[in-house]
Amino acid sequence: MSGITSDAPYLAGVWARVTELDVVSGSGCRVTTTTGDEYLDFTSGIAVTSTGHCHPHVVKAIQAQAERFIHAQVNCYHHDLLTPLAKRLREITPPSIETFFFTNSGAEATEGAVKLAKHATGRQNIIVFNGSFHGRTHLTMAMTTSKTSYKLNYAPLPSGVFVAPFPDLVHSKLSADDEIDRSISAFRHLLSTQTAPSETAAAILEPVLGEGGYIAAPPRFLEAIVNICREHGILFVADEVQCGFARTGKMFAVNHYDLDPDILIMAKGIASGMPFAAIGARSELMAKWIPGSHGGTYGGNPIACAASIATIEVLTADGFLENVNARAAQLTGELHRMATDHPSIIDIRGLGLMVGIEFDAPARVAAIVAAARTNGLLLMNAGTYGGVIRFMPPLVVTEAEMAEAITIFEKALIATA
Ligand code: PLP
Repeated sequence: MSGITSDAPYLAGVWARVTELDVVSGSGCRVTTTTGDEYLDFTSGIAVTSTGHCHPHVVKAIQAQAERFIHAQVNCYHHDLLTPLAKRLREITPPSIETFFFTNSGAEATEGAVKLAKHATGRQNIIVFNGSFHGRTHLTMAMTTSKTSYKLNYAPLPSGVFVAPFPDLVHSKLSADDEIDRSISAFRHLLSTQTAPSETAAAILEPVLGEGGYIAAPPRFLEAIVNICREHGILFVADEVQCGFARTGKMFAVNHYDLDPDILIMAKGIASGMPFAAIGARSELMAKWIPGSHGGTYGGNPIACAASIATIEVLTADGFLENVNARAAQLTGELHRMATDHPSIIDIRGLGLMVGIEFDAPARVAAIVAAARTNGLLLMNAGTYGGVIRFMPPLVVTEAEMAEAITIFEKALIATA
């Protein structure tokens, strides 16, 4: 398949490209290139287009809002979708998440959440976890530990960021229980040796590591971290930028665990591709955020709010989560079947339609992704060494589309063996 042109002289080369395709339209699970070739898009624009490309309900909401109001700046006046969206978010987020701030991207939401945590606690440090990805701004680069390439040559980065282990059940030589115990002890040790609890505002964690390789936090680990945070008045912040909004088969990944975050960071799947993000928090924390100490020109944009409300309507429709879970079972069942014939597959994991398949060599991953693309399926890698293929299809994927993707993937697996 072609559909490739070169625009290198005009566009910054800093964008790493997953494919060289030039696309002109998207519909549901498919994108179409300038040359008319269609691809099954199992990247979802990095886990964004959960409702599929250009879902009709979302398109209609965007069109209607564009005719009414494009930019209603929140400091200047409040438009009529802000509170309805906040109310809807309150209904679908965990009970501890009561009050909302709107912004434009995952990194901005993460930065904002850290600023909120500092204001609310009066403490200056934060703890993040190995394998994390929180964004590309200076603070979120400092918080990102999935790859050094994200930070290379950008020093100095903000200080006050401390890194705790995230259990590695695949590569650790320890038993799963011992690896989890080791990680919990290391978190306590960090509080005794590097950042005193009285100076630690928050621990920020992706319940399912995204860029870090699609690894769900073991429940015992996550619950222990939250308990330690509670012991010391440290806020627990869940970064659900990638794993939120039904991606894991529940509305939020924290719903798989028995815990309530103090702050929830949301983006990507929140608005079907409009640049939009939200910070949700306990009301008492938000009340401590001094008016004017945070903000932004575009946060709460009316078209993005309309897209978000319409997106939530799609995600909460009868049968939506059932489809996510049925398609997840279809995919993982087939991947496990393939693993019996392909010893190069060393792990299959994830939650819902956030599925990672790890290989014994990153070169194999690159070869499979390329072969799948040649046959019309777009996939991406993940993990520090690029050894994981991540499946993050639109959540509206049908049984037939999933079967088509599985067939292409298996052919790529065989062709690259
Ligand atoms: N947090 C997580 C878990 C992410 O996966 C990402 C992006 O991939 C971000 C934060 C940053 O989001 P954005 O690229 O919208 O700034």
